[in-house]
Amino acid sequence: MMKLPALAGAALLLLLTLSVSAFAALVLDAPDRVARGDAFLVLASSPQPVRRFTFSWGGKDYAADAYQENDRWQAVMLLGMPLEEKQASRTLTVSDGAGAASASVAVFDRKRPVQKLTVDKKYVSPPPEVMARIKDDRRKVARALAVYSSFRRWTAPFERPVDGGVSSLYGLRRVFNGQPRGFHKGLDLRSPEGTPVKACADGVVTLADNLYFSGNAVYLDHGLGVVTAYLHMSKILVRPGDSVRRGQTIGLVGATGRVTGPHLHLTLLAQGQSVDILPLLEKVEKR
Ligand SMILES: [Zn+2]
Repeated sequence: MMKLPALAGAALLLLLTLSVSAFAALVLDAPDRVARGDAFLVLASSPQPVRRFTFSWGGKDYAADAYQENDRWQAVMLLGMPLEEKQASRTLTVSDGAGAASASVAVFDRKRPVQKLTVDKKYVSPPPEVMARIKDDRRKVARALAVYSSFRRWTAPFERPVDGGVSSLYGLRRVFNGQPRGFHKGLDLRSPEGTPVKACADGVVTLADNLYFSGNAVYLDHGLGVVTAYLHMSKILVRPGDSVRRGQTIGLVGATGRVTGPHLHLTLLAQGQSVDILPLLEKVEKR
């Protein structure tokens, strides 16, 4: 006589488990298509408690601590579609430890006009004595970009670091003194020398140094693989390891390194990929 209730109990438990697991579906929100060079936000969420989500993108895994909002555990991630992406689509996968969800992201191109510039010839054909320095600069930047924290300090849209309008768009094909030199992997903002440069988001200074091409440069790690870099400044006002707040002055606009005049070159990197920050910047009235 004990067998029937036990069976009924087991059946009820099975039913409950089934309905919970059907309800526990991990949801991944991602855009259907993204242009080469663009950043995009994705959201993973689950009604079940999750400690950490792991996003797989471009053959690498990126962890994001989950946070609870309303009755769901979720994480947002900023990813980039490389300017040089060869494939017509890429797959994004997210795992919550118990299950996984995938999305296919189609790739398309934006127009990338050519921009011709004239700079001091030492920046087009660097003299042999600076080659070691350029190599060392690359190592410093790589070290700064290797920092990864699964805790998000950034919020989108990002604070605009200076008020000036755009003087050169991200992704332009650049020709320096008649020689092609790849894409412009940043956004140039018009601003007079000495203007305070504000941090785009809360973060930690991972690099604050004078580099050959970039001049006085500051790199900020904002967590989840999101990095902003501020180049060509006349003065650096922070040190490596400093925590900075969104809107805090980190340096002054200048014309150091490979430039044609004073401006701020702003770079956004998502998981090591430079991407167009303009669609993610706070809008301001043109001056
Ligand atoms: Zn630039």
